[in-house]
Amino acid sequence: MNPGFLDIDLIRLPRTCAREAINWLYKAGTRGVEGVALFAGVREGNTFTIKRTIIPEQQAANMEGGLLYVVRGEELHRIGLEIFDAKLQLFAQIHSHPTSAYHSETDDAYPIVTVVGGVSIVVPDFARGGINLSKWAIFRLLPETGWTEMTSAEKKSYFEIIEDLPEQKKAPRWYKFWLWL
Ligand SMILES: [Zn+2]
Repeated sequence: MNPGFLDIDLIRLPRTCAREAINWLYKAGTRGVEGVALFAGVREGNTFTIKRTIIPEQQAANMEGGLLYVVRGEELHRIGLEIFDAKLQLFAQIHSHPTSAYHSETDDAYPIVTVVGGVSIVVPDFARGGINLSKWAIFRLLPETGWTEMTSAEKKSYFEIIEDLPEQKKAPRWYKFWLWL
């Protein structure tokens, strides 16, 4: 069997990437629907570092009390190419729920991330709580038990929020001079 990401024991999530996803989920929530975003990145040994947040083109529906997000096959294909071209790997999905965070039957049945060891994050309260791992329900796809929720201790040991600045902010500042000349 393809071991996928089962050997990953540290997931580094830049705050900028987390914020991009949470902002999108929050925005969807203001319209009363669930949103979904994806995290892609690179592996180095047993560490996976998220490098990019991808907001798929998605349809949202509020039907019979079930709030659904739908990402079409064509869009998934496009994202697959984007990730491949950037030499990244799709590692995690993150989506919002109106109230409590759990993996629904639909979430179990139609995940976008399908690699073992991959991660699915469910954010409660339409992401009104911001970036707060202790409130997020985080699941990992395991061979024996399917999507399995991480305990609080596991979340703490597996996840590290990193506070790096986006690369463009490290660019030289010479442009500040000629802009005003
Ligand atoms: Zn869900």
